[in-house]
Amino acid sequence: MLSFNNTEISFSGKTNKDLKRSYWLFKLISYNWFVSMGKVLTNIALKLHLPIKGIIKATVFKQFCGGEDIKECDKSIKDLARFNIGTILDYSVEGKEAEKDLNACATETIATIAKAKADKSIPFCVFKVTGLARMHILEKVSANEELTKEEQKEFARVSHRVGTICKAAHDAGIPIFIDAEHSWVQNAIDDLANQMMALYNISKPIVYNTFQLYRKDRLGYLKHSFNNAVKGNYFLGAKLVRGAYMEKERARANEKRYPSPIHETKAETDTDYDSALLFCAENIDRIAICAGTHNEDSSMMLVDLMQKKNINSQNKHIYFSQLLGMSDHISFNLAEAGYNVAKYVPYGPVREVVPYLIRRAQENTSVKGQTGRELSLIMKEKERRNSSN
Ligand SMILES: Cc1cc2nc3c(=O)[nH]c(=O)nc-3n(C[C@H](O)[C@H](O)[C@H](O)COP(=O)(O)OP(=O)(O)OC[C@H]3O[C@@H](n4cnc5c(N)ncnc54)[C@H](O)[C@@H]3O)c2cc1C
Repeated sequence: MLSFNNTEISFSGKTNKDLKRSYWLFKLISYNWFVSMGKVLTNIALKLHLPIKGIIKATVFKQFCGGEDIKECDKSIKDLARFNIGTILDYSVEGKEAEKDLNACATETIATIAKAKADKSIPFCVFKVTGLARMHILEKVSANEELTKEEQKEFARVSHRVGTICKAAHDAGIPIFIDAEHSWVQNAIDDLANQMMALYNISKPIVYNTFQLYRKDRLGYLKHSFNNAVKGNYFLGAKLVRGAYMEKERARANEKRYPSPIHETKAETDTDYDSALLFCAENIDRIAICAGTHNEDSSMMLVDLMQKKNINSQNKHIYFSQLLGMSDHISFNLAEAGYNVAKYVPYGPVREVVPYLIRRAQENTSVKGQTGRELSLIMKEKERRNSSN
């Protein structure tokens, strides 16, 4: 019987020392004041070029990132592969807008495809379109605003980068996810993803768009995308997530006085997420999905759906995915039970991935003084190991 409560399986990849380190890390980041202060001090220290890289690398970076470059991720890739968990290398450098940085990001993504081709434990690659384009240009294209001659050329370069990456993924036979981002740049991302799917998903799913089910319109859009795939005779690749930008989305809608695109309640988001899983499971011959979630109920619901619909646990059209350093109780128990699991393994130079690390820390601060889920699971496993000695 699959259960996410089995901490022995959840932490089978961690030595006692690893567990202790994770315990102290999650304990520290459970304090709101610590994370707020840490954020300010880290940013100041980085600006002043103080030598804090070592501390970050030995603590939060070690918990949530694979390494500073692809080579350094080898240990994480092997550690996960021992437990039948795949790796999705995620180049997590954000907020760069110079042409040379956008080109460098494309080159780096293509390097992850080459790595995946050579290593069976990397089932997918991934990229963010904002790593390849300035926000401003995506925003204008998304709003259907007229582009200047220069901007038209700039957007042609963005399309070219996306096209080159997807072609490389297709030629290598490695499926690739296109992450979803803020709603005000998402139309441009969707259009690019749809063009790529129509081109490269003919004989098997290669390109996956991402659907954020916290948006009121995305369940409908998923169905619309599926109908287009059926009409166009290609596979729909769909990464299903709840969505990561809720506060920013609401704040912008409020400021610019348009209705928020985000569901009013968590329950509505949950209902749409689970309905999306159901819709995909019912059409699994033409849709390939990745359930990118740390939600236990949704993960278990997908397992139940697979059993009810006689979908083999190894069916390549269904993957479960979580982030490195989080929700190992879901990843490891699913993999042990024979389901397809892959974890996002973020990587990049320490100073460049600090915004990513701060977000992970913020996610794990305590709500109203309660012990967070990661921390309580670690505590449970520590107790189990102590009592079995
Ligand atoms: C492998 C993977 C890939 C991902 N890729 C992307 C991506 O491409 N784009 C992206 O945006 N995010 C992405 N995410 C993040 C994801 O969207 C969620 O923010 C995160 O996983 C938390 O949601 P959950 O399903 O894990 O769990 P839960 O903890 O059950 O859900 C939390 C989520 O519910 C929603 N929510 C919370 N409160 C409310 C509320 N009051 N009203 C409405 N909705 C609410 C929010 O989306 C919040 O993030 C990814 C996550 C994973 C694990």
